[in-house]
Amino acid sequence: MSQITPQPGIMDIALYEGGASKVEGVANVVKLSSNENPLGPSPKAIAAAQAAMARMNRYPSSDHAELRAAIAEVHGLDASRIICGAGSDEVLCFLCQGFAGPGDEVVYTEHGFGMYRIYALGSGATPVVAPERDRVVDVDAILAACTEKTRLVFIANPANPTGTMVDRADLVRLAEGIPGRAILVLDGAYAEFADGYDGGAALVEARDNVVMTRTFSKLYGLGGLRIGWGYGPKPVIDVLNRLRGPFNLSDVQLRAAEAAVRDRDYATSCQKENARLRNWLAAELGKLGVPSDQSYANFILARFADSDEVDACDAFLKSQGLIVRKVAGYGLSDCLRITVGDEDSCRRVVDAIRAFKEQSE
Ligand SMILES: *Cc1c(COP(=O)(O)O)cnc(C)c1O
Repeated sequence: MSQITPQPGIMDIALYEGGASKVEGVANVVKLSSNENPLGPSPKAIAAAQAAMARMNRYPSSDHAELRAAIAEVHGLDASRIICGAGSDEVLCFLCQGFAGPGDEVVYTEHGFGMYRIYALGSGATPVVAPERDRVVDVDAILAACTEKTRLVFIANPANPTGTMVDRADLVRLAEGIPGRAILVLDGAYAEFADGYDGGAALVEARDNVVMTRTFSKLYGLGGLRIGWGYGPKPVIDVLNRLRGPFNLSDVQLRAAEAAVRDRDYATSCQKENARLRNWLAAELGKLGVPSDQSYANFILARFADSDEVDACDAFLKSQGLIVRKVAGYGLSDCLRITVGDEDSCRRVVDAIRAFKEQSE
């Protein structure tokens, strides 16, 4: 046998599976399985990326100063405490690499995003799972799961795949209650879809143990380009920057993201369209006997009788060219996560689920 073996923990990682995008033999397929923006990126972001392509013989900026300045301006933040990554995933990875290793614990919740476990194991730390209460992050359960070994606590707010949120008072209680050596990471991948929510920025400003992560993959429609960012206390961001490759973002990524974040009109119109169609989709499915919790994101988590009905409905939707996401891997085998598509896609989903319900009566 070879003596070559990976670091402890690595072989416990199950490969992440992205949302499917094809159905064999079905035309006019719409992908509603990865929470992508159905309207695409801002035309200004596309133009900026195209212009940057012509300069690809040059290395990109390594300090991301212009993108950080744009983000800081739009969100009212301190640019020196922003770090940009290849997707917010990369920032989550830096947090685990920088702050959790063998013997340390990383806490996240029952239905929490799959990457928290992957990065915790990747850095040799021990994942600890706290229960949720009716598909909502339970601050008391997280605090009960914390020990002196806890180094990181990850929650997504709004959460994926549930779409639910924890309110401000609970976030404060969580930040105050975690052990002294732990960092609370507020994953704000869907923050822009929650009207009036700052993604946790004010809490980052008020404390020295909170980090917020954000992404260009969801609202801004740039998932294929891989750009995200984090915001936190200076000493934490300083650690993450030491781990960051100097050229982790290409000029194409940087320019597209800068144009996207500055195009407020486009972002606002996408937010409004999402809210309108999300609420319509949830209400229509509710009338068909398919309930969902109030979602604050760009998807809904539709609940069915059991996993058999989920499998049957998923197969039926596929046959109609509609790809949604099964979430049994997140402990939600009686649910399907459905991204809010454009108006036509939302109507197709409602029509298909109505037909499914009628045929199974
Ligand atoms: C999509 C998503 C992310 C990040 O995606 P990136 O494309 O890496 O920025 C992070 N957290 C949650 C909960 C997500 O759903």
